[in-house]
Amino acid sequence: MILSHARLPIPPLRHEFKEGKTYLFLIFYYISRESQILGVVLKTSWRKLMKDEYYRDYLDIVRSFRQYLEKRKEKGVKAVSSENEDSQELLEKLFHSIQRCRKCPLYKFRTNPVLGRGNPKARIMLIGEAPGREEDLQGKPFVGAAGRLLGEDLRKAEIPEEDIYIANVLKCRPPRNRDPSPEEIKACFPFLLEQIRIVNPRVICTLGKFATQTLLNTKQSILRLRGKVLSYQGKIPLIPTFHPAACIYRPDWRKFFLQDLCLVREQLSRRKGT
Ligand code: SF4
Repeated sequence: MILSHARLPIPPLRHEFKEGKTYLFLIFYYISRESQILGVVLKTSWRKLMKDEYYRDYLDIVRSFRQYLEKRKEKGVKAVSSENEDSQELLEKLFHSIQRCRKCPLYKFRTNPVLGRGNPKARIMLIGEAPGREEDLQGKPFVGAAGRLLGEDLRKAEIPEEDIYIANVLKCRPPRNRDPSPEEIKACFPFLLEQIRIVNPRVICTLGKFATQTLLNTKQSILRLRGKVLSYQGKIPLIPTFHPAACIYRPDWRKFFLQDLCLVREQLSRRKGT
């Protein structure tokens, strides 16, 4: 019984907890599902171990897990593994966590949090910086002028829409579209990591300085990095390019932007069948 629970995916908010506590939490959770009495004892000890704010998150995760398992049960699914799990459903769960998120002050300014759009099993993942005004209003990334430019150049590079999933490093809009702070990036980054894990793309293309520096953990400038085939965690080819909004202000960069998108397409065809 416990074995089948142990195959459950790690909850999306696991990064909110200190690493050691995360696994402790999972063990408590799985055991508490098995025994009501033991569960009460363990939950009480767990509460003592955690600060109140984390405990609230813990309860949210448990609640969403429970709802999720009940839904799966209704569908006749006894045990689930992250491999078989539906990416769309996982992204929806992640979105619910983001809607509740208050890990940085940006939650105060958002109209809508913005998770991503496109095919949840896309082979290419494009990653930008943060939602702008239009994105914040519509709750979708890249829907303003930069999004139109990106769409045009993806067509020119012959990258079909069904191959694309688009996300940002930050899920809430910084006021007046200012640059994200390092603290905000640090707070929000776990959501992006989880998104990449769920979509599991074959190629990543970072759009602009912030996405590139965050994913590559470097301070090097985008001018040095763009147009190269680098690597995300030694596993997925990562190609940095300019943010499409930058190409609006610097039209002379647009040809490089298109070149980089063509490089993305090329990498994808190389990785076909991998
Ligand atoms: S930007 Fe990210 S970390 Fe900050 S409140 Fe929004 S979802 Fe949470």
